[in-house]
Amino acid sequence: MGLFDKKNCSICGAKIGLLGGHKLSDGNLCKDCAKKLSPWFSDYKSSTAQSIGAQLEDREENKKRLAAFKTTKCFGEYGSIVIDEDAGVFAAISDSAASLFGERKEITDIAQIIDRNPDVVRFDQVTDVDIDIVQTQREEKQTVNGQQVSYNPKHILYMYMFYAVIKLDHPYIPMMRIQLNNDAVQIPNEGERLSNKIGLRLAAYLLDLPIRDVRETERIYSNNSLKDVLLRNPYAMPDYSYGFKCSLRNWDGIQRYGYYLLMTREILETLRR
Ligand SMILES: [Zn+2]
Repeated sequence: MGLFDKKNCSICGAKIGLLGGHKLSDGNLCKDCAKKLSPWFSDYKSSTAQSIGAQLEDREENKKRLAAFKTTKCFGEYGSIVIDEDAGVFAAISDSAASLFGERKEITDIAQIIDRNPDVVRFDQVTDVDIDIVQTQREEKQTVNGQQVSYNPKHILYMYMFYAVIKLDHPYIPMMRIQLNNDAVQIPNEGERLSNKIGLRLAAYLLDLPIRDVRETERIYSNNSLKDVLLRNPYAMPDYSYGFKCSLRNWDGIQRYGYYLLMTREILETLRR
C-alpha cells in the first residue's frame, strides 16, 4: 500500500480523500454517510462497519417513529427534550439553534426538529437520569480610595448552568447531556453560599419530593406554568433559600434556580416511569 492510496467508505464504497471521513475499527466511513448518523453518536473508533450499517438502517426506521410521535411535554431552552408520554418515548437535541449562529427557538413540538431526525428513545431504555449543576463564581469588589477592595462580608456573584444527564441502554447512544437553561442563572450573594448545609439539603429535598397530586401536576407541564407555580407562592422571603442569602436583589435569580430544579425533577419523574 502506497502512502497516497485512496480509502473507500465501508458503507457506500465512495472514495475518501486523504483527510476526509472517519476511521472505524475495521474500515472507513465517508462524510456523507457520517452525516446520517445519530446527532448523539461520536464513537467511530470502536465501531465496526457492521454496527454503523445497523445504525443507518435504524436511523431510517427512526423517521417512521418520528412521524407517529405526539408531543405531550417539552423541556429546555438551549437543548431540548421532547416527550410523547402516551407512547412512552422521547427525543432530544443538544442545541435548539439550527446552526452555530442560528437563532435559538423554543421547542414546543417535535415538528420543529423533525428535519434533524432526532433518535426516538423508549423510556425503558433509560437507565438513569441525573442533574448536573455547573457553578462558576466571581467576587464583586468596591472601589475605595482608588483601590479595589472586598466588601464585608464578600459579595459573590454565583452563576449556574443546568444539565439533564440521561444514561441509556441503547445500541449506539450511551448518554445524552442536555443543557436546559440558555442564560446562566445569576445570584449575587452576600458571603459564601451555604452549599454544604441548607443549600444542598434543600436541593436534594426538592429533587426527591413525592409526586404531586394530579391537579398540581397538570399545571406544571409547560415551562411557563412551572414558573407560575413558583411565583404564586405567597410565602415571605426567607433568610436563606438553597443556601443563598435572600435579598430583593437576588430573589429573582433564586427563584430561577428553583425553577430549573423543578424542571429537572419533572424530567426525572417522566422518564423514570
Ligand atoms: Zn459512505
